[in-house]
Amino acid sequence: MTSSVRISLPNGIQYTQPTCLFIDNKWVPGDSDTFSVLNPASEDEIVTIQGASSTNVDQAVIAARRAFEGVWSEIAASERGAFLYKIAELIKRDRELIASIDALDNGKPYTAALNIDLDEAWNVFRYYAGAADKITGQTIETSPAKLAYVMQEPLGVCGQIIPWNYPFMMLAWKVAPALACGNTVVLKPAEQTPLSALYFCELVLEAGLPAGVVNVLPGIGSITGSALALHEDVDKIAFTGSTPTGREIMKAAASNLKNITLECGGKSPSVVFEDADLEQAVKWCHSGIMDNQGQICTSTSRIYVHESVYDDFLTRFVDVTKKHDKIGDQFSEGIYQGAQISDIQQQRILSFIEAGKKDGARLLYGGTRHGQKGYFIKPTIFADTTESMKIVREEIFGPVVAISKFSTQGEVIRKCNDSPYGLAAALFTENVRRAHIVARKLQAGMVWINSSGDSHYGIPFGGYKSSGIGRELGQYALDAYTQSKAVHVNLDSAS
Ligand code: ADP
Repeated sequence: MTSSVRISLPNGIQYTQPTCLFIDNKWVPGDSDTFSVLNPASEDEIVTIQGASSTNVDQAVIAARRAFEGVWSEIAASERGAFLYKIAELIKRDRELIASIDALDNGKPYTAALNIDLDEAWNVFRYYAGAADKITGQTIETSPAKLAYVMQEPLGVCGQIIPWNYPFMMLAWKVAPALACGNTVVLKPAEQTPLSALYFCELVLEAGLPAGVVNVLPGIGSITGSALALHEDVDKIAFTGSTPTGREIMKAAASNLKNITLECGGKSPSVVFEDADLEQAVKWCHSGIMDNQGQICTSTSRIYVHESVYDDFLTRFVDVTKKHDKIGDQFSEGIYQGAQISDIQQQRILSFIEAGKKDGARLLYGGTRHGQKGYFIKPTIFADTTESMKIVREEIFGPVVAISKFSTQGEVIRKCNDSPYGLAAALFTENVRRAHIVARKLQAGMVWINSSGDSHYGIPFGGYKSSGIGRELGQYALDAYTQSKAVHVNLDSAS
């Protein structure tokens, strides 16, 4: 079986796509079934990829363990940082190619992949390159005769399982902090979008990383992902994906009490108060749900608008949605929305839309697939939704929004918090006191005031309740990829 194929991208770029596993700095065949990777806009197969079996997971973990103990955790932190800088520079050099690869198997507009995902990935590698030699512990005063200090040490071998919505960016969020802290990595990309993670291994080779520091295993979640989460010699699992899969991973990780970071689903609310700048609120509420085809864990998919501005908000929201209703192939000029990731997701979103209609929500816009080919969905707006409706309670992960009105601040806070999720929340008001009071009361890991969807590599990302455990990015990821060791020194030779 071939280990790579030559691909000509629709925008004229040509490159060689690896199609097998990357273990110990070598391309190796996969023992599990192969799987097809499709272009969601055309439904055509791009390439067949080899899947990793549990034996392959074992091989990768052995390589990662050896690299951790003999090499990566032993070298100077500044040297690890220098490797990460090299990777960052290679990402910058290849940003157009990598953005094209992500656009191809994800379906997202190429310009979004380039300007959002690749920009972020480059910054994340630079940030953690700089952070590698700034990981510090502390000394703690206990008594004059004793010295106690705390060191932050790496965890060991980190299994990382990433989703399909931001393929390369999610890789960066996981790999960069893990390596900066001195861990080694076995990464499993999503089966829908493994291409950029495999290409990344070419950059790992070019940057000269020691063998076994980064291993990438394409494969199906229930086979490769599960074997990784269960593996007794993996010290940590970092996962981004749906809450049900997060639960499975948590169970699997229990066998050897792995450290876990879970970044899971959401049903994030936006609240528009009567004194909000309505034009701004509409703009942010729109991008909050429609960006990335609605496939963001933090998508603000429920909007609560004060009754006094409700009708005005709805008219403006439909207008802005119409203006952005530019759906098409990921490489076409001027599109805002690409295809959903898969046939399964398209069908799932359409079934939510049917549930919304059946439950009596008022359909203001969209409500169907777009075109006959490709996994496209029209941006869809439901108004007058009620709290018991499925489209208000469950994560849809598509361009579908549920809008309803509220009367009082207490009522809307109760509605926002009445969810098993707690990932993010947005609120719009010109009243500074109210903004901070409401921000405090919202049960969410991230709150946006007069904005939506902001994230930054220096700021913690993660959720409350069933939206996850732990935080990614910033200093918080350094904590998530290290463990503390307390050292007690007796200075008194007589005792
Ligand atoms: P989706 O259902 O939208 O594909 P998932 O949360 O299932 O989202 O997938 C996110 C990532 O988790 C993917 O890389 C997928 O292969 C992986 N995955 C799915 N099921 C499991 C599992 N049982 N154990 C480990 N990883 C899994």
